[in-house]
Amino acid sequence: RYLQREGIEELGIAIVKESLFNEEPCELTLKNYKKDGTLFHNLLNITPFFQKEKLRYFIGVQHDITKQIEQEKKLSEQSLFIQSILDVQENMVLVSDGLQTTYTNKAVFDFFGLDSFESFKKKYNCISHTFEEHESFFHLGKIDSSEYWIDAVTLLAESERIVAIKNQRYELNYFQLEIKAITNSVHVLTLKDITATLLKERVLTNKAYHDALTGLYNRQYFYEYIVVKALNKSSMIGIIIIDIDDFKFINDIHGHSIGDEVLKIFAKTLQNSLRSSDILIRWGGEEFVVVSEIKSDDEVMIIAEHLRTAVSLMKLGEIGNITASFGVTNLKENENIDIAIGRADKALYIAKEHGKNRVEMI
Ligand code: GH3
Ligand code: MG
Ligand code: MG
Repeated sequence: RYLQREGIEELGIAIVKESLFNEEPCELTLKNYKKDGTLFHNLLNITPFFQKEKLRYFIGVQHDITKQIEQEKKLSEQSLFIQSILDVQENMVLVSDGLQTTYTNKAVFDFFGLDSFESFKKKYNCISHTFEEHESFFHLGKIDSSEYWIDAVTLLAESERIVAIKNQRYELNYFQLEIKAITNSVHVLTLKDITATLLKERVLTNKAYHDALTGLYNRQYFYEYIVVKALNKSSMIGIIIIDIDDFKFINDIHGHSIGDEVLKIFAKTLQNSLRSSDILIRWGGEEFVVVSEIKSDDEVMIIAEHLRTAVSLMKLGEIGNITASFGVTNLKENENIDIAIGRADKALYIAKEHGKNRVEMI
């Protein structure tokens, strides 16, 4: 009787018939029509009942699951709606349940050049695995393995919540990372691309901390960065002040622009004669400062002597040779850097007094 009703799906009928014929149980959902003609979703369960190994009858149970199916449909429409809203966002948006990524929007696929959530999961599993190891930005190397990265990031200031990620063409992009917890186990991660702003800022910072003529660090950088870094270090610090001898004559005889060229070559010669850990600053005019991490009291003297020789060997064509004088000192424990600079300056004065082209240490 059940199968006689009009409009019932052919495939459903076939499955039921087969299970009756084979005396096997079956469960299926069919679209069916009520007496008054309205459509409903019918969950049908048929179980054969045996007695003494002989089939006696079938027990058939029907459920009207129309409401359930309609609710599911509504939910899936809602989720498609939300998905389409997130997919038009330029920011990368991801949802994490605390351990795993459970959702990513289209911007994520576009950035990594992937076509689906599954391929993202397969390749990266978690977005944190894409964060490049970089001193200035957040990455997994900055936290303990026992620490959960989302918790760690949430505690950071905005300026520290920046990550560097390579796109599908291996170009580095920088993102401001925002994490909002909706529940204990649902976190929404938003990554806003700030590459352009960051690079512009970097150019400005570079200008602010570098000397335009020689490209070396300037005094501003010395006071804002080197002093802080040097005073925090436990190793000994040596300081050298360098002043070109009789530089006024070069300007007077060859002109100011040749003087500029000499300063550039001089800066390059010093830089090439130093170790990568030494920091060279254009202190002003034709004066330069070297800040060196050293292991013994007399090491800075050796470095200065090495620089003096390098300068005296410089080839400057028709200008001939130039020389420089060097004032050297070591930074004492808990000493103000300006006191040490003053002492090096005094040593430089003595070098000039004693005939120039020499190193003096106080
Ligand atoms: P001393 O051996 O005593 O150091 O003699 P000096 O002539 O080098 O000393 P002084 O400090 O009297 O002169 C430095 C000169 O450096 C004066 C200045 O015109 C020149 N100078 C400073 N900055 C620049 C620059 O950027 N370019 C050029 N071409 N010259 C500069
Ligand atoms: Mg001078
Ligand atoms: Mg000079």
